[in-house]
Amino acid sequence: MEKTERPYLIAGPCSVESLGQLRQVTEALSKIPQVHLIRAGVWKPRTRPGGFEGLGEPALAWMQELSKEYGVHYCCEVARPEHVELCQQYGIEYVWLGARTTTNPFMVEEICSSLQGCDMHVMVKNPVCPDVRLWLGAIERIAAAGVADIAAIHRGFNLYDNDNYRNAPMWEVAMELRRQLPETPILCDPSHIGGRRDLIMPLAEVALQLDYDGLMIEVHPSPAEAWTDAAQQITPAELQSIASTMRERAGNTDAIQRTDIVLEPLREQIDTIDHEMLRLLSRRMNLSKEIASVKREGQMAVYQSKRWEAVMQDRMQMAEVLGLDGNFTKDLLEKIHAESIRMQMET
Ligand code: PEP
Ligand code: MN
Repeated sequence: MEKTERPYLIAGPCSVESLGQLRQVTEALSKIPQVHLIRAGVWKPRTRPGGFEGLGEPALAWMQELSKEYGVHYCCEVARPEHVELCQQYGIEYVWLGARTTTNPFMVEEICSSLQGCDMHVMVKNPVCPDVRLWLGAIERIAAAGVADIAAIHRGFNLYDNDNYRNAPMWEVAMELRRQLPETPILCDPSHIGGRRDLIMPLAEVALQLDYDGLMIEVHPSPAEAWTDAAQQITPAELQSIASTMRERAGNTDAIQRTDIVLEPLREQIDTIDHEMLRLLSRRMNLSKEIASVKREGQMAVYQSKRWEAVMQDRMQMAEVLGLDGNFTKDLLEKIHAESIRMQMET
């Protein structure tokens, strides 16, 4: 994927369900000029057993047939060396590693063995947990296998508390990947971050604001009837409208002052981090309330000096490791503690 082909748009169904469904969506997407590549899931990694797990090889044969008929290119997820070999057999040159695969270096290594010496384009989704090193590691392993064209896909992170998203975006993790690998294009997958149709447009907007190189969006001819991820797929017509806004934005970038281009993504990150901090503070205060009732039942004083000393010591050590100013950290923690005590008194 050339950095110049921006914004790079990948669209297509979560899963291939039938030749008819694939043909319908391919025909529609082939008419949208901004679409570079059609995604189509052939092997589906299901978190729990018992669901539709993909059609496998027959789907690849349809993709090969339709790519000739419509002059398009497809990409699909690979999770085992056999998947890579089958893709090569059916002329699929673009593949991606799913989030569950990136999480496991053993699996990444195995896939790398089948990528050696073949001319494939590989995209790497972020791992399920917010560990940028796993993401970097997978990209590094694939590069070491001789793959020249590698891109990253940000699909969000599986957290216990995802704050209304299917997968928490945690934009700062993707920003860190970009900081460490500035030459690697990064795409956003708003479908899997949001998990809901109505979140795709606002998430895509944030990604473009953050200067991502492209988007991967799930598109289905009848989204509500999709066999997988029905809540998050959109119609080709809906994709068309997102694609036109993308073009407007791309056309405007020249007009934006250089300073704005640098400032905007940084401010977006500050906003995201502030929101995150406030959410965490609110969770902390709620826990203080729970603690207050336990203390009351145990006839224990609200202020526990030994515990507070231990907390302070631990946090000050952590602040030092993180390079935070000691006085600032102390003031901040004391403020938080004072508020926690006030709330516990009131509870
Ligand atoms: C997918 O793209 O359909 C998919 C399963 O994604 P992820 O690996 O992000 O869960
Ligand atoms: Mn999906």
